[in-house]
Amino acid sequence: MKTPISLIIDDPAPVVSVYHEHAKSRTTKDGRPLIPTFSNSLLFQFCDIVEKHSIKGKFSVVPMPGNKGDIVSGLEGVAQADLQEWLDTVKARVVPSFTIGPELLTHHQAVDLATGASLGIKECDWASTQNRTTLTPYIAKALTLLKQAGFSSYGVTSPWNFGIEVEDEYVASISQAVYEVSGSKNAWYFLRALRDVPNAKPWIALEDGERTVVSIPATTRDHIWQTIDTARTDQAYIHAVADMLITQDGKSGEIIRVLERDGWPILCTHWQSLMSNGLGTGLRVLDEVADRINRLLFDRVVWMRFSDIMELVLSDKASYPKPIFQ
Ligand SMILES: [Zn+2]
Repeated sequence: MKTPISLIIDDPAPVVSVYHEHAKSRTTKDGRPLIPTFSNSLLFQFCDIVEKHSIKGKFSVVPMPGNKGDIVSGLEGVAQADLQEWLDTVKARVVPSFTIGPELLTHHQAVDLATGASLGIKECDWASTQNRTTLTPYIAKALTLLKQAGFSSYGVTSPWNFGIEVEDEYVASISQAVYEVSGSKNAWYFLRALRDVPNAKPWIALEDGERTVVSIPATTRDHIWQTIDTARTDQAYIHAVADMLITQDGKSGEIIRVLERDGWPILCTHWQSLMSNGLGTGLRVLDEVADRINRLLFDRVVWMRFSDIMELVLSDKASYPKPIFQ
């Protein structure tokens, strides 16, 4: 069997850059102002690359991005037509190849579910002191907004390290919220990274009667992130960043190192990494990396959505034990 390969895209939202809202600095490291929105033309370019290389993976949709409203009722500063175009494009061109899920509600400040008002605390800090009683409705709200926007989802992505301090409560809440909103007895989530370790693979995080939760980790670093902080867009730069994941001869790079240690390359990047503060440099890196993967590793790996990975793990649960964390 070929080894699964998958691409995690964290942080997408219609037009709004959640990174602009939560970044520690409103300027790039080389001193340019951080842009607050990403044009739909960059989404179209992303879709072109995905279709060209048959890339598959997980694509977040943040339901209340940056505390600027929600994707169903409308977003502050975003024209309704642009919001709708973004959602329609994701449904038509991303959904066939990527499993969609919320990246909790705002990827910014936690909200009061009754009013939508900010609680004035980062979502990950809020989550660290919660339990299943409060986490379940919070996750259910995110899944419900995606459902109302026309997406079926049965998994979640954790903004930052959301829930890591109370992971057992968090996992139980994911299972319950997914069951309540979608009826699915199986769920997935992305929180952990397994990097520089052997056998980096997903695992069964919860088995409770008929319900199962599969934890799918990232196994590489987001090398594309650095494109946010430079105005360089030349081919030598694109190749240098791509080399960190897979070199032109297919002999080294982080993807190769994961494969050599019997792991699954579950690549991780962010929407803002691909957008590169409006320059789209990261999209060109993705284009190059996917081309190299398909050309050099076609006999070793097969692209999978998170839903495919979840089904594969569920088909042979005993082979995917939970790793021990230090
Ligand atoms: Zn994120």
